[in-house]
Amino acid sequence: MENTQTCLYCQAPLKGRTDKRFCDNQCKSAYHNGKPDSKENYIKEINKQLRRNRSALRYACPQGKATVRKDFLEKLGMNFKYNTHDWKSQSGTMYQFCYDYGYAQVEDPLKVLIIQQQNYMV
Ligand SMILES: [Zn+2]
Repeated sequence: MENTQTCLYCQAPLKGRTDKRFCDNQCKSAYHNGKPDSKENYIKEINKQLRRNRSALRYACPQGKATVRKDFLEKLGMNFKYNTHDWKSQSGTMYQFCYDYGYAQVEDPLKVLIIQQQNYMV
């Protein structure tokens, strides 16, 4: 299988072992030493995205439930990769939550059903 990984530091495509994350030790130490707060920034960025996701869901679903297009949510800043937790309804539907707003895939692959978290879901 072709290795399509890129170096975490310089973004150069990596050859060889698929578990490699850097071109060489220089890139590795530059990555770890050059960005002392990269982990902190990473956490901050994810927190920011989660809040953005929640705002998008709240905007699209001001009350109760709403079925909306995913690209509409993405225009509002939603990134479906980031969620805080999931919840399975009694009927077996899996919802992904961003804080107190959740969504589930509906039959139409372009749309999701948004719900607000209720007390019984916690
Ligand atoms: Zn590199």
